[in-house]
Amino acid sequence: MGIADSGVVHAGQAAPDLLIAGAGVAGLWLTVKAARAGLSVMLVERGNPGGGASGGFLGALMPHSPERWNGKKDFQFRALVDLEDEVARLESETGAYCGYRRVGRLLPLTSERARTAELARVGEAQLNWGDAFRYEVKHTAEIDNWPDILAAPHGTVHETLSARISPPGLLGALLTSIAMMPNVDLRLETSVVEVSPAGRTATLSDGSVVSYGHVALANGVDAFPLIARAAGLPSQSLGSGVKGQAALLDARTYPDLPVVYEDGLYVIAHENGHVAVGSTSERDYDDPTGTDEALDLVIKRARRLCPVIKHAPVIRRWAGVRPRAIGRDPMLGPVPGAPGVLAMAGGFKISFGIAHRMADVLVSGITGTQGPETPASFSVEHHAAKAAGKTSTG
Ligand SMILES: Cc1cc2nc3c(=O)[nH]c(=O)nc-3n(C[C@H](O)[C@H](O)[C@H](O)COP(=O)(O)OP(=O)(O)OC[C@H]3O[C@@H](n4cnc5c(N)ncnc54)[C@H](O)[C@@H]3O)c2cc1C
Repeated sequence: MGIADSGVVHAGQAAPDLLIAGAGVAGLWLTVKAARAGLSVMLVERGNPGGGASGGFLGALMPHSPERWNGKKDFQFRALVDLEDEVARLESETGAYCGYRRVGRLLPLTSERARTAELARVGEAQLNWGDAFRYEVKHTAEIDNWPDILAAPHGTVHETLSARISPPGLLGALLTSIAMMPNVDLRLETSVVEVSPAGRTATLSDGSVVSYGHVALANGVDAFPLIARAAGLPSQSLGSGVKGQAALLDARTYPDLPVVYEDGLYVIAHENGHVAVGSTSERDYDDPTGTDEALDLVIKRARRLCPVIKHAPVIRRWAGVRPRAIGRDPMLGPVPGAPGVLAMAGGFKISFGIAHRMADVLVSGITGTQGPETPASFSVEHHAAKAAGKTSTG
């Protein structure tokens, strides 16, 4: 049977240069970057944009710790530095507002041991971050009740690299940009069901089969089985989901307050006086989007840590499932043994700070231009080696 007889649909147009599965922060940035580079793009989203882990409201953009520098930390550092300009460009192109601000971050110190460890990091930060950002150890918390002085008996770390962004603001700006691009075909309420690398086709949930130049699997936690199958690996081998719960409080506070972070707890003041607090980290869960008493505990801890929000009413509770790749680092680049198939998954807790740079890597690979350097630990091979229980050389 020839292609003309087989029900193959080319989406009413020529096969896209790039077919993208998933309209979370990863897929949306990739669409914008690819379309800007002149590629024709079909973006296929199972539900609505932001329907996955990107649909929350935390938006912390925090660096890894500055010591034991490696490729992953360097990639994230450059991404966090660049994001300010990326957002400015997006805002000026679309007129949308992303709620970005480089507010810095405070880490309360609860022991002399922690203080000593942080003092050792000051030099590492200067070495690896350069002069543009500071990493300082202070004796006291400098802002009243942010955090509570009793929560920081040994002082605080204050670093100036961290920022925050409004996740709905960024997603809205990326969607506005996409709506302005004639070379993007957005398909909502449609899933990529399977990819067939041999024929460079993908089957969609509406029954159509789309030919593509490349396909990028950027569909969050659901990307792992698709990537694994394309690579000929067991479906569940490459990654899993870690549920997180967060809350939004109407705190009517100042938007320039630094992010406060303590042992998995984030307190983030946003532009509109709202404060986001999170998050739980749950590997075992029955209800991926439900909130429960674990979130109540997070809220309680946050109120104790930052008395500014002690009485602020909770206006939203939310949960989502973060994509965590088997090797912990993001999963980015060609899928071995599957020509034209690209992975863009596993941003876990840091996607909002790095997705634009991950997109640059894939687009430069497709267009054959110079792109950002990517650590070997991001490669699908590296993750596959972890899955096979081997120690990777990467
Ligand atoms: C509580 C919580 C707090 C967080 N806080 C932060 C933070 O402060 N800073 C930060 O950087 N990160 C944070 N994260 C992590 C961040 O949200 C995720 O890493 C990020 O959203 C992942 O983006 P993604 O685009 O890869 O996946 P997703 O946002 O999950 O998007 C995947 C999309 O693909 C769609 N889809 C699924 N299967 C298919 C298919 N077969 N075909 C087509 N479409 C499909 C889904 O509907 C979804 O819209 C947090 C996560 C949680 C849960």
